[in-house]
Amino acid sequence: MSKPARLPWKHEPSFREALKIPRGFRLADLDPASTPGFQGGKADGSRALAAGEAELDDLQERLHAQATAGAPEAVLLILQAMDTAGKGGIVRHVAGLVDPQGLQITAFKAPTDEERSHDFLWRIRRALPRPGRIGIFDRSHYEDVLVVRVNDLAPRAVWSKRYAAINAFEREVVGTRITPVKVMLHLSREEQQKRLLERLERPDKQWKYNPGDVDARTRWEAYMEAYQAVFDRTSTREAPWHVVPADRKWYARLAVQRLLIEHLREVAPRWPAPSFDPEVERQRVLES
Ligand code: ATP
Ligand code: MG
Repeated sequence: MSKPARLPWKHEPSFREALKIPRGFRLADLDPASTPGFQGGKADGSRALAAGEAELDDLQERLHAQATAGAPEAVLLILQAMDTAGKGGIVRHVAGLVDPQGLQITAFKAPTDEERSHDFLWRIRRALPRPGRIGIFDRSHYEDVLVVRVNDLAPRAVWSKRYAAINAFEREVVGTRITPVKVMLHLSREEQQKRLLERLERPDKQWKYNPGDVDARTRWEAYMEAYQAVFDRTSTREAPWHVVPADRKWYARLAVQRLLIEHLREVAPRWPAPSFDPEVERQRVLES
């Protein structure tokens, strides 16, 4: 692939540092309209997003290439958010820019009867990215301590044990060389109302409106408490949470792209060495 394009900043900020939740983090204290790690406005943000495309593409191709030679590494973006926060847009704008064959996207809905007959992590394990892939979870095992907790879909005795189960599971995942990138898109209640109203007003957006979203909205505080518990109990050294303010869509997209790039750089995928002697093959090609 081509050389990564130059970024529109002199000193590249670490979004990973800017968005990783600090000790004692309170979700309520983070402004959903803020843009941590980034000084510019919308136009700068779009430029920065475009400037990151080539590097993300290059890293993804290396990740895929080294897996063909047996390297086990994969990356897993875990997206959690309230409705209308923009998970779909992230998948389209960020991940849609790399080779679709390198992606493994799974949207988790309410469990089917079959899924329900297994442990809550059963369907999650089956969806883990294969070596060389960038997996995306559009919702995840965290629903089992979010919607389930808020709506009493399981007794407290059941869901309260899941935090520890999730930490153990994620440790295992990291052990198999999958790098999790856990992201919560943090939307304000006011911005969600705006987006829901817009969906109702526009014929090209009405199909996205889901009357059920209003029910979740009426339990906003309970959801925020459930998210806070997730951060308190499952942000570990191996698999920390990143909270991305999401009232500004352009920022959320940029932040998730940068988080992916920064994690992929650390994975540092390399072009695999050829299984043949290029000089010998060159002669063969020339003589053929
Ligand atoms: P979009 O609305 O943009 O298509 P979405 O993720 O909101 O994306 P929906 O089909 O509207 O998709 O909603 C999926 C629903 O499935 C959510 O309400 C979510 O809470 C629910 N869900 C996901 N996992 C579980 C689970 N383990 N237990 C119960 N409900 C779940
Ligand atoms: Mg929905």
